Amino acid sequence: MTNNKRNIPHYSDQGQYPDSYYAASRNPKPDRPTLKQDINCETCIVGGGYSGLSTALHLTETDHDVVLLEGAQIGWGASGRNGGQIVNGLNASLQKIKKSYGDSTADFVGQLVTRGNKIIRRFIADYNIQCDLKEKNIFAAFNTSQMNDLIDTHELWESHGMHEREILDKQGIQQYVNTDAYIGGMIDHSGGHIHPLNLALGEAAAIEKNGGTIYENTLVVDIEYSDTGAKVITEFGTVTCQKIVLCGNAYLNKVIPKLTDRIMPVSTQIIATEPLGELADELIPSDVCVEDMRYILDYYRLSADKRMLFGGGSVYGGQDPADIKAKIRPNMIKIFPQLRDVQVDYAWSGNFALSFSRVPQMGQLHDRVLFAHGYSGHGVTGSHLFGQILADAINGKTKEFDTFAKVPWIPFPGGRSLRVPYSVMGSWWYALKDKTGL
Ligand SMILES: Cc1cc2nc3c(=O)[nH]c(=O)nc-3n(C[C@H](O)[C@H](O)[C@H](O)COP(=O)(O)OP(=O)(O)OC[C@H]3O[C@@H](n4cnc5c(N)ncnc54)[C@H](O)[C@@H]3O)c2cc1C
Repeated sequence: MTNNKRNIPHYSDQGQYPDSYYAASRNPKPDRPTLKQDINCETCIVGGGYSGLSTALHLTETDHDVVLLEGAQIGWGASGRNGGQIVNGLNASLQKIKKSYGDSTADFVGQLVTRGNKIIRRFIADYNIQCDLKEKNIFAAFNTSQMNDLIDTHELWESHGMHEREILDKQGIQQYVNTDAYIGGMIDHSGGHIHPLNLALGEAAAIEKNGGTIYENTLVVDIEYSDTGAKVITEFGTVTCQKIVLCGNAYLNKVIPKLTDRIMPVSTQIIATEPLGELADELIPSDVCVEDMRYILDYYRLSADKRMLFGGGSVYGGQDPADIKAKIRPNMIKIFPQLRDVQVDYAWSGNFALSFSRVPQMGQLHDRVLFAHGYSGHGVTGSHLFGQILADAINGKTKEFDTFAKVPWIPFPGGRSLRVPYSVMGSWWYALKDKTGL
């Protein structure tokens, strides 16, 4: 159903959270109003995921007058559905950034890659956010080629002064994860994991505590801007402001046609088993989170109540697979055969925004309209970092924003109509490489 001039579709689920473990175990939240009037503020932020929340929270910390508009509920998008893995860095490795964009961009990114993690931890501490924070993350290798990549990555990170990572051989990784599947890996002692929806809800509460205003179930259908001002148009009201920040990421749809073609929605799925009791401690005695090094990867961890949360799979274009449990369960059993007979209590899917280069994008459509998106499946830390950089830019500290805004974005081959089949074909090649260890 639509009722606006661009035919922006309403949320098919009326903005309800998906039937996820996170929604079932979320902290209480207020029912926030829908915007039904014309209001004013300094900065209006579109999107209540981490990008929008981090921008808004940083801005309210400097007494900025902020209104955040969310089409569904806070954390309804990727930020409330994800694997919860706090991974330092971006999806694109520093090696790849160096190769594609040169030494100075890689050095710039190298200095920033741990900051998102620190921002999350500061928000949790400063605002007492209850989101089950646990320590450390592991990158796991199935073959020598992946192991060599990790060794190169380790060296490069060391060269940027980051010494919290350690290479693990087969025995070393088995002390952390009780599976025979990997030949080794790399642990990041400064990584971690969280209940992602509760982090988002805590950040929203902090914004309001600092004086910011949040509207939920408020679908933005258009924006207007000129040298004298800007306006965000929602279904039932408007916000007149100095600056607009667009953080709709994979769910922004075609509200801003100029942004739509820069990224492609990709869905990924997670299942949550029943609570595993002591078996959980046998499987992941260290309680770290894990992702493997394949192109289409598995990622998993234990929840606070000791369920296995196991994610993986990718659907280019962002559709949900027909049977998520049937798709993801076999991957889990390959890693942990001990879970063959356990019950799966929840299964859900979410969309992240893929950029062709896998480097996230930040920029402006106009002096008054900034945006950030495209973390390519690794955005828990990146979105928090970008939120801080966006807030700094709005407060006049534009150096980091300007540097990122200059990074050119590369269009998907085949344009809008062919990017999905071309990406599927590309992923076959990478899957073959992963299988053969090339
Ligand atoms: C299943 C899954 C697992 C993942 N696992 C990890 C992981 O373990 N570690 C990691 O680093 N990254 C992971 N990611 C990626 C990470 O979650 C995202 O990069 C990050 O959350 C992006 O945050 P965001 O705020 O930019 O976008 P989102 O969280 O998607 O938020 C965008 C919000 O904008 C709102 N919106 C869109 N259009 C409009 C509009 N017109 N009007 C009003 N509101 C609008 C949406 O409703 C949505 O709530 C995962 C992603 C998924 C989907």
